[in-house]
Parts: sequence; C-alpha cells; structure tokens
Amino acid sequence: MTAVEQTRHLATAIPGPRSSALISRKNDAVARGVGTTMPVYAARAGGGIVEDVDGNRLIDLGSGIAVTTIGNASPKVVEAVAAQAADFTHTCFMVTPYEGYVAVAEQLNRLTPGSAEKRSALFNSGSEAVENAVKIARAYTRKQAVVSFDHAYHGRTNLTMALTAKSMPYKHGFGPFAPEIYRAPLSYPFRDAEFGKELATDGEVAAKRAINVIDKQVGADNLAAVIIEPIQGEGGFIVPAPGFLRALLDWCRDNNVVFIADEVQTGFARTGAMFACEHEGIEPDLIVTAKGIADGLPLSAVTGRADIMDAPHVSGLGGTYGGNPVACAAALATIETIEADGLVERARQIETLMMSRLNQMQADDDRIGDVRGRGAMIAVELVKPGTTEPDAELTKALCAAAHAHGVIVLSCGTYGNVLRFLPPLAIGDDLLNEALDILATALADLPA
Ligand SMILES: *Cc1c(COP(=O)(O)O)cnc(C)c1O
Repeated sequence: MTAVEQTRHLATAIPGPRSSALISRKNDAVARGVGTTMPVYAARAGGGIVEDVDGNRLIDLGSGIAVTTIGNASPKVVEAVAAQAADFTHTCFMVTPYEGYVAVAEQLNRLTPGSAEKRSALFNSGSEAVENAVKIARAYTRKQAVVSFDHAYHGRTNLTMALTAKSMPYKHGFGPFAPEIYRAPLSYPFRDAEFGKELATDGEVAAKRAINVIDKQVGADNLAAVIIEPIQGEGGFIVPAPGFLRALLDWCRDNNVVFIADEVQTGFARTGAMFACEHEGIEPDLIVTAKGIADGLPLSAVTGRADIMDAPHVSGLGGTYGGNPVACAAALATIETIEADGLVERARQIETLMMSRLNQMQADDDRIGDVRGRGAMIAVELVKPGTTEPDAELTKALCAAAHAHGVIVLSCGTYGNVLRFLPPLAIGDDLLNEALDILATALADLPA
C-alpha cells in the first residue's frame, strides 16, 4: 500500500455517496448512543490526512482524539504489529507472560517524570487505567475519598463518570454514580479573570481556593487521592495558572494523599514535552496514560512510585486483555518513533505556528475570547463579541463549515464553545496552514 497523498482533496460533497450509504447502515445497526463527529467513513489515513471511502482527503486536526499522535499507521508501528500478530496475538499476561509487557513498563518508568523507583501496570482504556489508579491509591492510603475538579473528564465507566464533571452527554440518565467522589474548583484563567487578576494569574491563589474546599468538605484524613488532568482535555484545553499544580501536589504530600496526574490526553509528546507535568516541573505520585501511547491500539497504563504501586495485594490488579502483546509492540514502536524522529520538538514547532496564526485571528475577531494550550494541543474559546459569554452555536457552525471543506476539527468544553486542535505530529506545515486558512475564512463568513 502506497502512502496516503498529503494533499486535501474533495472528490465529492461531504458526505459522498459511499459514506451516506454507510451512515444509513450505521443507523440501522449501531446503537444511537454511539455518536460520530464526522459524516464520512475512513478508508486510509497517514501523515496529516484521513482519506474517506469516496476518495476525499481530509486534513486531520483530531488524531482520533489525540491518539495517532505520531501519525496514523506509522511505519514502525505497522511493522511491529504485523510481526507480533504473526507470533502470537494473546496468551494473557496473568497466565503466560511475555517480554513486550515488561518492556513497555520499563519504558514508562524511564520516561515519566520523577527519579524515584517506579512500577507500571497495563490496561486497555484510559477509563480502566483511571479506575486502577484509584484502586491503588485506596490500597496504599487505606482511605476512600477521591477529589476531582470542575470541568474534569476521566472517562465513561461508572467510577470515571463520577469523576467526570459534565452531565450531558457523559452522565445524563446513567446514575447512580460511585460514592466518595468530591469536586473542587479548578484554575481556569480565562473565566477566573472575572473574579480578580490574582486568581487568574497566580496558581497558588487558585490552589488555596481548591484546598479550602477539599479541607472543609472532605478532610485529608478521609482522602485517598486527588486526580487532575495537567491540561484539561474534554473540559476545554484549560491550562491552569502557573503554580496551581505544584501547590496541590505539595498539599497532597503533606497530607498523605496520592496525587494522580491523568495524562491520558496530554501524554506522549502531545504538549511539547513527553508529559505535560514536565511544563510545571512536578513529579506526580501516579501518572495515568492511554490515547497516544500505542498509535491507536488499545493500551493504557498506571505508572508511579514503587511503594504506592506495590500496595495492592498479589493478583489484586489485572484483566484478561490488559497489556495485550500486539498493543505492547505498537507502544514500543511508538516510543521509538517519538524519540528517533524528535517529535517532542515537532510539537513545539506546531505550537509556535498555530499560536501565531490563532493570535492573529483573535486580534482580527473579538468572537475569539481566548487562545490557549501547549504543543499540538491548542484551542480557541468562542464567545459573544467582546464578552466572556460562551457561543456554542458559533462553535457548531464553524465546525460544520470546516468539515464541509475537508478539515477534521473537534469541539469541547463545558459550554460547548471550544474549538480544539490535535493535529498528528506527522502533519506538514503546508497542511496545517491550509487548515487554518479554511478556518479563518469560515469564521469571517459566519455572521457575528
Ligand atoms: C479520553 C480520556 C479518558 C478516557 O479514556 P478512554 O480510553 O476513552 O476510556 C480519561 N482521561 C482523559 C484525560 C481523557 O482524555
């Protein structure tokens, strides 16, 4: 199979006839609760392009939600997956273990921030890894309560629904939720500005507000863990004010509370560092990873200090498929590609390019309230002109216009008014610029 041509190309309207036929089959066969962002069906993908079944080539600013960070069907991954699948596809690590699992654990222990001795355990999805991080923290502290934050997203299983903030669509109608979960206020600089400059710019002030809530409403004696995304994903690519994460971590250390960084969306070079915690110079007790770890194969992990990770009893952790050998081979090839191709640096270049273009767009249009993010995880928050009032309608219209012109973009945010960009790091500057041109034109064409 030749590489996917790296140009945008519209062969039909979006969706074309083949995608339309598949949409109709999907509606008859797939539960309606499983929604789709794009109206096109994928045939092939690579670099910065997804090609659909009608021969349309779309610019990919989504990476399958921050998963195919190194580029879809990346060559080393394809080779490693094929070789491993030919040897064996599964034995169950808990029955007949294999080297790939151990090698991934070694790589995670090496790559994650922190020089303390570490251990890792592998699972299938981000949600499953978050659940296991909570199990480990409870076993270690012998306490039960867990704090997560406003706007948080940690998954869709029962415990992670409870940790997730937003009701519609993630929780609505699906309760009751797991007990002993409490919510604290986040540092959200763009929206905190309403309550004073200090709160918006000084992370320690925002952390004090959160710690006060945790102290009074939960109490450190009951609290097993604090879980936080170092840059929130689904919640709106919210970068907390500097010092916020550090102050929370310090408080956790002083109070025998496990600090869990959910790096499911931010990990593996996405933010211009191997892990987003590095930007704040913090070393979490536990780090949860998934998404970008294996270029699309289902794999997730919990990595952290050996004394915490080793707290659960033997056979207390596991699962039939966790650390599947094919997924492990993909993860090892992914990590090799990130390091060999300098993809952390590439994410920083993408940040520079996107930030300068989007800041210019913001200067020209007061419906862009905020431009934020790091690396190849950048977003714009759309508002009613010159205010902070969210404009979800505009966001929806802009997404639809981008999709019609062959650009895959996603929205996010508690208020549905954040346009987020997660390009694969294998995308070329030409495609990135073309996608931004299309967005700028589409925004200018939408009535204020
Ligand atoms: C996607 C995501 C999850 C859940 O991962 P799944 O693999 O979908 O279960 C958890 N945390 C964060 C920050 C995420 O972005």
